[in-house]
Amino acid sequence: MNVLRFDTISLFPQMFEAITNFGITSKALHKMSEPLWQWQNWNPRDYANNRLGYIDDRPYGGGCGMIMQAEPIEKSILAAKQNHINSNFAGSLVIYLSPQGEVLNQNNIANLLNLVLTKNLGLILLCGRYEGIDERVLNLYVEKEISIGDYVLSGGELAAMILMDAMIRLLPKALNHQDSAVLDSFSEELDGGLDFPQYTRPEVFHGERVPEVLLSGNHQAILQWRLQQSRLRTQQKRPDLFLKMQTSSKNSKNKN
Ligand code: SAM
Repeated sequence: MNVLRFDTISLFPQMFEAITNFGITSKALHKMSEPLWQWQNWNPRDYANNRLGYIDDRPYGGGCGMIMQAEPIEKSILAAKQNHINSNFAGSLVIYLSPQGEVLNQNNIANLLNLVLTKNLGLILLCGRYEGIDERVLNLYVEKEISIGDYVLSGGELAAMILMDAMIRLLPKALNHQDSAVLDSFSEELDGGLDFPQYTRPEVFHGERVPEVLLSGNHQAILQWRLQQSRLRTQQKRPDLFLKMQTSSKNSKNKN
């Protein structure tokens, strides 16, 4: 299988320690016989056209805030692309993390993972700062914009890490049996619904007992209960998602 490769373009590479140094994403990077994913950062400051490393300037037309200049971003993108070619990737896919992009969900994350692995592409994740990036370089190089939700962050790094984490945990071998993503919220096994309630020891907590069926050892009954609970809580917590589940199950019944 092709390796999952991320090249971030960011002024703050240290922020990525949150995923390179902790948890499942760290294990998948450092503790496997072969790393399951690769990461390298390209810092636009290294391509600044001045000795002080400034890469931002005031917006034409006035207004507050600063804009990241096109040239250092372009050079960073080209360096990352060249590196992909040198490392035998078939090409690159440039994504700009932006509040104006397509909003992430489990489905488009899985599709993106499938695309880059089957086509052997390296992902270039462009992380903006300040008021954003000069539009001209975005028009030239960005192939996809991705948002993590309808709110504005101060930089694209957290958004990039959310995308990276969500992709890495879908890689076969990234999760061990206990962490399995198979029955996570939004999974096919749950018809796209929410995860069911989970319990661990002790059996009684503040007078509340673990549901009897979970102690029964009857795997069929446990599975039935979990699927039922998943549907129930999806209906209660996310009526929008529940409606979608019903529509898609109706559609697939009509097809058959
Ligand atoms: N002026 C921009 C706008 O309103 O569209 C927002 C700039 S924001 C302060 C700085 C950077 O944070 C953006 O360039 C982008 O990379 C990142 N960012 C902010 N909100 C985001 C979101 N919801 N999803 C992904 N990236 C986001």
